[in-house]
Amino acid sequence: MLRILFVASEAHPLIKTGGLGDVAGALPAALQTGGHDVRLLLPGYRGALERAGRLEEVTRLTLPPAATVARLMEGRLPGSQVPVWLADCPAAYDRDGGPYLDPLGHPWEDNAVRFALLARVAAAIALGQAGIAWRPDVVHANDWQTALTPVFMKDAAQRPASVFTVHNLAYQGLFDRTLLGRLGLPESLWSPESLEFHGQLSFIKGGLVYSDMLSTVSPTYAREIRTPDFGCGLDGLLRHRADRLAGILNGIDDSEWDPARDPRIAHHYDCGHIPGKYANKRALQAENSLEENPRAPLLGMVSRLVRQKGIDLVLEAIPHLMQERAQLVFLGSGERSYEDALRSAQRRYPGRIAVRIGFDEGAAHRIESGADMFLMPSRFEPCGLNQLYSLRYGTVPIVRRVGGLADTVVDATAASLQAGTATGIAFDGDSVEALVAALTRALALYADAPAWHRLMVSGMQRDFSWRESARRYADLYREVLQRRE
Ligand code: ADP
Repeated sequence: MLRILFVASEAHPLIKTGGLGDVAGALPAALQTGGHDVRLLLPGYRGALERAGRLEEVTRLTLPPAATVARLMEGRLPGSQVPVWLADCPAAYDRDGGPYLDPLGHPWEDNAVRFALLARVAAAIALGQAGIAWRPDVVHANDWQTALTPVFMKDAAQRPASVFTVHNLAYQGLFDRTLLGRLGLPESLWSPESLEFHGQLSFIKGGLVYSDMLSTVSPTYAREIRTPDFGCGLDGLLRHRADRLAGILNGIDDSEWDPARDPRIAHHYDCGHIPGKYANKRALQAENSLEENPRAPLLGMVSRLVRQKGIDLVLEAIPHLMQERAQLVFLGSGERSYEDALRSAQRRYPGRIAVRIGFDEGAAHRIESGADMFLMPSRFEPCGLNQLYSLRYGTVPIVRRVGGLADTVVDATAASLQAGTATGIAFDGDSVEALVAALTRALALYADAPAWHRLMVSGMQRDFSWRESARRYADLYREVLQRRE
């Protein structure tokens, strides 16, 4: 049994903006099921404190450099037995708005301070300086928000092993150089070998440089980020640390995403009995004022509306899809220009395109269960969860062959269809022509009902549960402990 402190800036269902929230909400529980002693540390955002249920103060910390006081509130991650610690520091976390962005969608101007504080709390617990008896064997930090954790631990004589997981290398936590002093970091860390990144202070480099072991969320992304095309300027460092970099696919949280018992969908189904899916399609069309036509191929997309996700390509492909009698349902939020363009597409094609701007967990489940196909033409995708949910829900994913999408979707070729291994449509290139060619292939297959049915079923039968991934993380923790000996 290993003792693991899992540190993240979001975890479903307390707080979630994307895939990291899904992972941090599921992996700790899967590790616990595997027999490990896991504690989850999160910021005490207002909403998280409200949703957490009964909480008890376990300790009070006074943290450098400004003697900031944080209360550590202990509860259980709802829906699990995982102990969760919320770092309650009202000045940093008790406010309206999101975990990273203010109500107007701009990054909180004190994000560096807010997340350095979280890392300070993590390091204090890890080093036995928090006034609690429990100490971890491994501290597992995730993404830039928690990446200073190993930095704050690095000089301790006795410290736990550290693992840092990159969920998206494009988000690095870059701040003005003056923050170095304000965060109480020594000048000696100001160098390109350490936290400096082209004249800015880089949080993510703290994790990449000072952790004992690194991982990212798919084997293909682990290779891609060592190349200039995907490395976001950090490929050199990642090549340098390649022998410490693992790629472990995310899993699906079965208690949240299972079409046979998902409480957020009206009609349940599984791969042996699909009619419920068609009832959900009807309901999805009705809910979104789409023509209630069972034969119209219905494509869904649930996504942050950012360039990474290839939303511009989808917008360009709309005229082609409309010629093909397809329907589209979008759920997402993000950049205003994409939101406006999607709304205008909806006005242009009433009854054929439905757009819902915002973050809506229930609507995401209804789209996964009711759509025939799922669009994910990402320019890069560390792992991607929606294609996994789509496979599970018999919603054939159409993906660009990058990162985790390449690792999880088997393209429907003559050979893979024949062998029964095909699960979706995967294409190369980031042009609209490439996407349109993929859509054309998908729609042709859709017209062949028996072939389509086989494609759906073989996707639904794939196992992407957390069990296997959690086992791999446990192996990684053991490896890092061994290497330190
Ligand atoms: P990323 O982490 O890059 O946003 P992932 O595919 O890994 O992409 O994970 C996205 C997660 O966030 C999925 O669980 C997806 O359903 C959810 N999600 C994204 N946008 C929305 C939205 N507007 N409403 C509800 N859920 C969303």
